[in-house]
Amino acid sequence: MRTEKQKEHYLRNREHFIDYAKNYRAELRAEVKTRLGAVCFICSKPSECYHNIYGIEHTLGKSYIKRLRYLLEHAEDFKALCFSCHRLVHFLASNPSTLEKLRHFNLERAEQLIRTLLTHRESS
Ligand SMILES: [Zn+2]
Ligand SMILES: [Zn+2]
Repeated sequence: MRTEKQKEHYLRNREHFIDYAKNYRAELRAEVKTRLGAVCFICSKPSECYHNIYGIEHTLGKSYIKRLRYLLEHAEDFKALCFSCHRLVHFLASNPSTLEKLRHFNLERAEQLIRTLLTHRESS
């Protein structure tokens, strides 16, 4: 519990405390980016999330700061990913046979076929 004096002190310096908390959060965020990676491990686009390589729940509690601290304490358990690759990783983890098929997948040829299909669909 806060005493009256502490409350008074807080209210008087409220702005300062808020600034301090914001700076602290920004510093943590920057450190996470430096240590865990600013680009996606798979496609090298800017990273948007951190995937736990063991599949352990990584949204710990509600506090953003707690989550950032957790990431830093367990940095070696995480990989930086973009949203698309993250979704794909989880999809392939639950459909591992697709991963094997993708090994022979020619993306350019598939794209050629898909573009034709889409053009045809739009014009019909
Ligand atoms: Zn990616
Ligand atoms: Zn994940």
